[in-house]
Amino acid sequence: MHVSTILKNKGAAIITTRPEESTGTVAQLLHVNRIGAVLVVDSDGEIAGILSERDIVRGLAVHGAGVLDRPVAEFMTRKVVTCQSTDTIASIMERMTQGRFRHLPVVDDGKLVGFISIGDVVKLRVEEYAQEVESLREYVSGGL
Ligand code: AMP
Repeated sequence: MHVSTILKNKGAAIITTRPEESTGTVAQLLHVNRIGAVLVVDSDGEIAGILSERDIVRGLAVHGAGVLDRPVAEFMTRKVVTCQSTDTIASIMERMTQGRFRHLPVVDDGKLVGFISIGDVVKLRVEEYAQEVESLREYVSGGL
């Protein structure tokens, strides 16, 4: 199984924000869309960073409620790890575990084509296991 399988299921819609947007507005964006992170893009549409709920909590711990009026650029992670749609699910699980993050933008030939979360990966894995169990059941009952 590959990242492209996840994109086929969930589509390629990507919610983004700009570095100068306020962190409070992005907190709203996360809440309304029921997501845990948002990709930050610059005026050319290039990836500038990623801001997750963890970054907002960290900002809150340091600045208190004032974090909400500060720009996303102050709290986002700038060195963003990406994947490609041809990557295997096993390899991106490894990347997420090693990097201790739960989100990965998908970039093919320099173009942003999707954004996946650990939730998407777990959902696919659960479906895979259910299919395997079903196949084994059919195999066993076919032999009886
Ligand atoms: P998460 O577990 O995805 O909510 O993010 C935990 C931390 O990792 C936060 O500081 C994020 O900004 C950062 N982060 C999330 N995804 C990535 C990524 N793909 N590349 C680099 N950092 C990331």
